[in-house]
Amino acid sequence: MRHIAIVGSGPAGYYTAEAAQKTFGDEVRVDIFDRMPVPFGLIRSGVAPDHQSIKAVSRRYEKVALADNVRFVGNVAVGTDLSIDEMRALYDAVVLATGAPRDRALGVPGEDLENVYGSAEFVGWYNGHPQFARLDPDLSGKTAAIIGMGNVALDVARILSKTPDEFAGSDIVAHALKALEASNIERILILGRRGAHHIAMTPKELGELAELERATPVVRTSDLPAAAEDAALDPGQRKSVTLLRSFAAQDGEASPPKPIRIEFVFQTISKALHGQGKVQSIELERTRLVGGRSVGTGETFRMPVDLVVSCIGYRTTRIDGVPFDDMAGRFANEDGRILPGLYAVGWARRGPSGTIGTNRPDGYALIERVAQDFATGMVGPATRQGRAGFDALAADRALDIVTFSDWKRIEEAETAAARDGSPREKFVDIEAMIKARG
Ligand SMILES: Cc1cc2nc3c(=O)[nH]c(=O)nc-3n(C[C@H](O)[C@H](O)[C@H](O)COP(=O)(O)OP(=O)(O)OC[C@H]3O[C@@H](n4cnc5c(N)ncnc54)[C@H](O)[C@@H]3O)c2cc1C
Repeated sequence: MRHIAIVGSGPAGYYTAEAAQKTFGDEVRVDIFDRMPVPFGLIRSGVAPDHQSIKAVSRRYEKVALADNVRFVGNVAVGTDLSIDEMRALYDAVVLATGAPRDRALGVPGEDLENVYGSAEFVGWYNGHPQFARLDPDLSGKTAAIIGMGNVALDVARILSKTPDEFAGSDIVAHALKALEASNIERILILGRRGAHHIAMTPKELGELAELERATPVVRTSDLPAAAEDAALDPGQRKSVTLLRSFAAQDGEASPPKPIRIEFVFQTISKALHGQGKVQSIELERTRLVGGRSVGTGETFRMPVDLVVSCIGYRTTRIDGVPFDDMAGRFANEDGRILPGLYAVGWARRGPSGTIGTNRPDGYALIERVAQDFATGMVGPATRQGRAGFDALAADRALDIVTFSDWKRIEEAETAAARDGSPREKFVDIEAMIKARG
């Protein structure tokens, strides 16, 4: 019997568990740990609340979770509640699927001013992640700047623009819905270092901006490269750029006119944020493109802003005893191998890129390597205690473990508390979650 610990219950964790089940069948026991009492990582706390069909992927993970040889061990933070060395002594393989939950810093003066947030914080706030539920961003100003031109920036712009009715069917948490209802934001700047050909926005998400009830996407024709140059783009990117062209063709006009403008500002680098306590303006430098890279031109200007959300990527949180690649912001690994018997997968392995589906081949490939390491003796003989050893340690330390059936009770309570038309009202603090398991 082999014992595998997977640390993190997001997509990478569950796809890895699924691959382990398929590869080792009855010869494996898998424990999936999470520091949260609830599973599924960014499916719950990252994916936008108005994208419920995407969140439905968690049903597939549930099938894995309910198998006899897999169990969920929630409310246990690896690196804090038990060390990585303790885990490695208990399990034949320890797979870190801890994602990349920390915002990459902007690295500019003024970043610490009030009402300046990273997207992990801001998205965590509207999705009810206990760490960020009390963020309480001030939405009383008129202008929001979103730094970055990827899908997370689009999520944030869309959430800031929607009417309460447009959130019907979503699981946006009550505190965010209330704050957004009272929001005064009427100008949303989406700031990118490079040009229209370099956006990292997919057509579906970009197209949603044109459907918003009270917001219009605004692109200046003069900011777009000549249409003939689109031919060199891959088909998906060409579709996105075609959407930008359709926004430009409307010239920021909508009929009837809409009160919120979502303006694309290309080729600018953020140099500083200014304000007295709270952010009041952003200083930008124009860039020019040299071989696809953006280079500052020295020309700077300021724009008044009342809220800043930077959506420029994430970093993995370090765990004591695990080698870390500081430049890349993830665990140091070679094709997922960190040390004998210690592996990384998903965002913790490759950094914050790709879709949920990208984590599936990642999980399967990792389990192939684990199987190789078992077969070649790279990992010692199957003598580790696995679950039984962990349970003894957990009892000794009085760890309050949340099981998958506990989670199902928490979920039932969330479903029961849902407002009309919403799938759930999430608990936004850990104590309430634990209490709800009964
Ligand atoms: C805002 C946002 C929106 C997104 N929207 C989409 C979308 O619409 N469609 C799409 O395809 N992809 C989307 N993605 C990408 C997708 O969410 C990721 O590809 C995926 O979640 C990465 O999976 P992961 O398992 O590596 O990490 P995560 O999903 O982050 O899971 C990591 C898990 O590890 C746990 N953990 C962390 N540290 C510890 C520890 N020390 N001990 C125990 N547990 C720990 C965390 O609590 C978490 O549950 C989005 C990402 C973001 C940030």
